[in-house]
Amino acid sequence: MRRKIAAGNWKMNKTPQEAKALIQELLPLVDSDEVDVIFCVPFIDIPVAIELLKGSRISVGAQNMHFEDKGAFTGEISAKMLYESGVEYVIIGHSERRQYFAETDETVNKKILKAFETELIPIVCCGETLEQREAGITLEWIKGQIKGAFAGVCKENAAQTIIAYEPIWAIGTGKVATKEQAEEVCRFIRETICELYDQETADKIRILYGGSVTGDSANELFSMDDIDGGLVGGASLKADFGRIVHYNK
Ligand code: PEP
Repeated sequence: MRRKIAAGNWKMNKTPQEAKALIQELLPLVDSDEVDVIFCVPFIDIPVAIELLKGSRISVGAQNMHFEDKGAFTGEISAKMLYESGVEYVIIGHSERRQYFAETDETVNKKILKAFETELIPIVCCGETLEQREAGITLEWIKGQIKGAFAGVCKENAAQTIIAYEPIWAIGTGKVATKEQAEEVCRFIRETICELYDQETADKIRILYGGSVTGDSANELFSMDDIDGGLVGGASLKADFGRIVHYNK
């Protein structure tokens, strides 16, 4: 039985002081022994998040990292820097990074390999544009992203990876994919993992849906067979995130 995940992607929101207030507000709302809860916060908020979440069941994630260990990469942050700061998870290849910061399947792959080398668990994002969906090439596109992302990733690490299927047309738009649309792609991703590895790996890997999830939509989405929770943007910055974590209550 795969444990569900509710991962919040704070994006570029909350100063350290604001982060402190938000974490204090959310802490009592998001405690769960059934769902793994992760706050993916801006780099500058990592120390305050680690400090405030010490002793809780909530983990801290980052939203990006570089694939090199160190060096002349102004403005970047390494996997080891995150690890030493107490971070356990890192979002890799979010569509906003692909769109605005030239992230490619190749850099995504390098980052996944580096994350595992550093004992960070990657949350790997994939998803199609509206044009791709309308052209009927969603599954083909997703397969290419998954194959590119997992090149050279061993079976043991693949099983631990978290994949987030995030249709770009649903991110931050208030347009949620229907549970059938989300399930179709999440199931296809699991089948692709089975093809690349085996059934055991496909059964273990956790696949999230992301795209305008709220407390109102979480239950029907997370109840689908191949959807193991959500990567949540806007709603993770509000008390509504508590309803998402407790989606089945
Ligand atoms: C995201 O940032 O990954 C996301 C899904 O955002 P939102 O929930 O706001 O659509």
